[in-house]
Amino acid sequence: MLTTRPRGTNDLLPAELVKWHYVENILHQVASLYGYQEIRTPIFEHTELFQRGVGESTDIVEKEMYTFIDRGERSLTLRPEATASTVRAFLEHKLYAGPLPVKLYYIGPMFRYDRPQAGRYRQFHQFGVEAFGAQDPSLDAEVIAMAMDIYQRLGLKNLVVELNSVGCPKCRQAHRQVLQEYLKEKLSKLCPTCQGRFARNPLRILDCKSEHCREVVAEAPTIDQMLCADCRSHFQLVQEYLQELQVAYTLNPRLVRGLDYYTKTAFEIVAQGIGAQSSIGGGGRYDHLIEECGGPSLPGIGYAMGIERIILTLEEQGIELPTEIKTHVFIAALGEKAQKKGAKLAQDLRQVGLVVERDYFGKSLKAQLKAANRLQAQTTVILGEEELAKEQAVVRKMEEGLQEVVPLGELVSYLVKGKKEEK
Ligand code: AMP
Repeated sequence: MLTTRPRGTNDLLPAELVKWHYVENILHQVASLYGYQEIRTPIFEHTELFQRGVGESTDIVEKEMYTFIDRGERSLTLRPEATASTVRAFLEHKLYAGPLPVKLYYIGPMFRYDRPQAGRYRQFHQFGVEAFGAQDPSLDAEVIAMAMDIYQRLGLKNLVVELNSVGCPKCRQAHRQVLQEYLKEKLSKLCPTCQGRFARNPLRILDCKSEHCREVVAEAPTIDQMLCADCRSHFQLVQEYLQELQVAYTLNPRLVRGLDYYTKTAFEIVAQGIGAQSSIGGGGRYDHLIEECGGPSLPGIGYAMGIERIILTLEEQGIELPTEIKTHVFIAALGEKAQKKGAKLAQDLRQVGLVVERDYFGKSLKAQLKAANRLQAQTTVILGEEELAKEQAVVRKMEEGLQEVVPLGELVSYLVKGKKEEK
């Protein structure tokens, strides 16, 4: 137990984190290009927020939340997603009093008691954006285009945008009735989960992954036939804007998504050929959530993408990320006097922005050069008694195998000039 992490969690070791930093940098950059500002909310919230915000009848609230009672007898929950938290913060700080839309983004860990497998964890990370206060269908299209922009900058290929409109409460109610009517006779053929969904949330039956359920709903009435005039024209415009922005999409009238709060636009981005956990992001419009959480009647739209899944897809598609030079200079010093000189030289070089490593064990020159190679140092500075006496150092370019003698006084500027950033 003491040396094993909890099931469904991951340790991110240094080699892995190089990739994370690369991805996160792009996320921060693109978010600001589209006018989103970062927000950081607590990892846990009052349980009620998610019950209300995510929806009582969702899988997340019914069976996936990490809920606990704290020492003050309050029910708290580790956030399973961040839209509800972002809405809560937006309301608590009255951000709606300023200019609209308010555009926020977040990156951080989420927690769901899911069945762990490749690409599905109990602690995972999401990047997400939320835009509060604008109804315009062009914003829906822009949000989808932004998600695709991120994936394209990362070099991901074979992505499909699945698009649907889940309507408003009015058209959804009508669809729900027709659907229940259709499924009534076929209830015994559905999986136990869907039998449970029949009364509470029949729409979810439409995107059940079980083969049997898929067969049963193959001919079931879908929402596209039931949209009201307002939802229909909004959906039409979202598609026109997507065409304008040259974002390809596929209509999927069965796309429902696992959160209750969506209205009108719902979308999911799927990476083809990466196995079962192929959804790398998704989102939609939620025009009643802010009010539902106790705020003014303001619309909203957002999406979230799983960072573990992005990294997995990058790996599966064999996309090489640029690797930074980890060590610019290794200082191989021999003898006590040279060690001191080497320690000071390391500090001087770090001050001017070079990554410097040195030996802490008093090893032989051969062993130190081996260490420099292992670190893939770009350059090694050899400081021996003899060189010191002549106020010189030997500088070896590791890759080229070239060696030069440089006066100590010129060493810093010589090394700065030769610094390479990327391979
Ligand atoms: P959702 O909040 O369920 O709409 O999920 C948005 C995205 O988060 C998904 O497309 C996945 O990329 C990612 N995601 C959701 N659940 C998990 C999980 N348990 N483990 C890893 N990634 C997840």
